[in-house]
Amino acid sequence: MRCIVCEKSIKKKLHYFNFLPPQEAVGCMKQKIPARKEGEIIHNMNISTIFTDHPPASKSGCSKFTNFKVMSATITNGAVRKFSAWDGETYADDYFCSDKCAIKQGYASAQHNARYCWK
Ligand SMILES: [Zn+2]
Repeated sequence: MRCIVCEKSIKKKLHYFNFLPPQEAVGCMKQKIPARKEGEIIHNMNISTIFTDHPPASKSGCSKFTNFKVMSATITNGAVRKFSAWDGETYADDYFCSDKCAIKQGYASAQHNARYCWK
């Protein structure tokens, strides 16, 4: 999908997955993360956390955790720590690559006398 103003590609809207060991841990804000069951998944907005002691070793191994297309994976010490996936159809925006292009379109519309009723 391309921006209607500059024709740059519009970013895909990605879903993010993290792997964490299921035992109790301390988070980045020093809060305690309680112990979870092996394989348990917690969803929060567009981030899913998968609790397991056995994360996949490669990007291709991530596909069993999602129906989405796996786009990228971060591998540390032979194990995937996080990966991103795309549903194959959702983009960050339907028309514009950025707010800057949306503003340009707005000014062009105004200059060409397009008027919309906003209230
Ligand atoms: Zn643009």
